Amino acid sequence: MGICASCKAIKFGGIKVDGARYCNDACYQNALFRQEMLALPDDILQPMLAQMHAKDCPKCKRHGPVDIHSSFMLYSIIIISRHSATHQLCCKACGVKAQLGAALFSALCGWRSISGVLMTPFVILFNLWGIFLGPDGKTPSKQLGQLVARQLVQTNRDLKARPAAFGQ
Ligand SMILES: [Zn+2]
Ligand SMILES: [Zn+2]
Repeated sequence: MGICASCKAIKFGGIKVDGARYCNDACYQNALFRQEMLALPDDILQPMLAQMHAKDCPKCKRHGPVDIHSSFMLYSIIIISRHSATHQLCCKACGVKAQLGAALFSALCGWRSISGVLMTPFVILFNLWGIFLGPDGKTPSKQLGQLVARQLVQTNRDLKARPAAFGQ
C-alpha cells in the first residue's frame, strides 16, 4: 500500500516509476505535466501571463484585465441536489455578474431539500468570497498563472510532436 505521488490517493498496487508510486499511467502523466509546468522559466511565463491578463474580455468584449472568476450554483428539490462550479476567463464586471446571478439562483432554488438548506448559505458565501476576495484585476491570480503554464507546456509538446516533414 502507498500514496500516489500525483493525486495523493491511497493505493494498493499501482505503478512505480523512479521510486515514486502512482495509481496508473494517467496519474504519472499528470505528474510529468505538472513538473513541466513548474519548470517553465519565469522570463517565458511572466510575459505570457501579463499578455493574457491584459486581454479584452471574451464575454463583453470590453477592455481587460481578465482573470479566472469562479461562481457556484446549487439546485435542490426534496431529494435531488445538484451543484456546479463555473470557472470562466472574463473581466471583473462579468465575473461579478455571474457570481451574483449564481448566488441569487442558489438563494431561490438551493434550499428545497434538507442538505440544500445546509449547503445554500455556503454556496452563497463562496460567491460573495469571489466577488470581494477574488482576482481584483491588479495582479494575475495563481489560477490564471496555471492556465497559461498549462497552455505553454501543451504548445511546447504539440510542437515537439509535429512530424519532421512539417517541422522543417
Ligand atoms: Zn493517482
Ligand atoms: Zn466582461
